[in-house]
Amino acid sequence: MKNYFLLLPLAVTFTLYSCNGKENKMEVDVVEKIDNTLSNSNYVNNRAPLQSLYLYKLPVGTIKPASWLGKMLELQSNGLAGNLSEISVWLRKDSSAWLSKDGLGKYGWEEMPYWLKGYGNIGYVLGNKKMIDEARIWLDAAMDSQRPTGDFGPIVYRNGKRDLWANMLMFFSLQSYYEYSNDKRVLQVMGNYFKWQQTVPDSLFLKDYWENSRGGDNLYSVYWLYNINGDTTLLSLAEKIHRNTANWRQDTTLPNWHNVNIAQCFREPATYFLQSHNEKDRNATYNNFELIREKYGQVPGGMFGSDENSRVGYTDPRQCVETCGMLEQMASDEMLLRFTGDKKWAENCEDVAFNTFPAAFMPDQKSLRYLTGPNMVVSDSKDHSPGIDNGGPYLMMNPFSSRCCQHNHTSGWVYYAEHLIMATPDDGVAAMFYSSS
Ligand SMILES: [Zn+2]
Repeated sequence: MKNYFLLLPLAVTFTLYSCNGKENKMEVDVVEKIDNTLSNSNYVNNRAPLQSLYLYKLPVGTIKPASWLGKMLELQSNGLAGNLSEISVWLRKDSSAWLSKDGLGKYGWEEMPYWLKGYGNIGYVLGNKKMIDEARIWLDAAMDSQRPTGDFGPIVYRNGKRDLWANMLMFFSLQSYYEYSNDKRVLQVMGNYFKWQQTVPDSLFLKDYWENSRGGDNLYSVYWLYNINGDTTLLSLAEKIHRNTANWRQDTTLPNWHNVNIAQCFREPATYFLQSHNEKDRNATYNNFELIREKYGQVPGGMFGSDENSRVGYTDPRQCVETCGMLEQMASDEMLLRFTGDKKWAENCEDVAFNTFPAAFMPDQKSLRYLTGPNMVVSDSKDHSPGIDNGGPYLMMNPFSSRCCQHNHTSGWVYYAEHLIMATPDDGVAAMFYSSS
């Protein structure tokens, strides 16, 4: 087996001794950047004409995190993440639109799929049957709700048109479930849905604020399916998604300054670069990353000062960031590692994971804050606007803190754990993040 550490060009041979005293030789190459002209024979590469991957994510459940990271997932499974379905109104089984066959009911937006995309994966990684079975209830219901048109899930209208943001989130859960189970229904449901998306006129497609900002998530899942089934009509859909998504390719500004949108959507151009092969697209993602930190980068810990929204005049090191923003930044870094092979993204992910993300939670993982700032020692229930954006009790450590972070926080550590080791184009592996596993 060949193993990598991304650093300097060097080749070393280690001799390891297992507990029975048997000698195992392991060759380790230390390289500046991985060569992506080869294709890993064990895992799905990007299919032509998409640019080849530099690194491959191993299927969920392959990596068993140990030490503090394994402990963190255990705490989460016994804490808020693992028990949220019993206390969150958004996960009520008697009235959730996510469990209804006809897409009608209450609580049919982002909260459930935010929770599920981390909850299910914690279950797969820990082999926790209770969590796997619970996740399956929501996954099956979503797949069973597919309508003859191909649309599925809660029928949500915002501003007079079908809002597609929550469906983008559900794909993260479906893709992880497919990695875990190889259940072919996932491919069928996603394929039917993407065919339906091709019939929606541009004038009604991704026009609401959240879906418009976050179309890059939709794009990512279209490429995921294309790499498996090779259906070239998906590439036309990808172009349509890109042209109807907010413009994240501007030199000196961003389409909006919402902290989660920035952490999640700055990667859209580099995702589309896989198809366009236009260096300007990939460079736009690097530019977005630098731009927000140049203007609001006084806070340490890998993020930027934004509270809920970055605002002119509020640039000091006491500004905060939302918990959703932290874990979306980490997820973006993990994807960009695969697309670019640039170790910069591993550095940033570790910076956020070690220096910002843990401060948003109580150590027992039973409570969290909406906003956390590295120099903000206040943790009360008062309204601190306008110094902190928005108005409300946003610095309070509270298990019911805000609709989004309360549910979305589940994926932060488990996605990180899934990327500790990644596969390389020449059938080796690379150590990406430092933790025992
Ligand atoms: Zn949030």
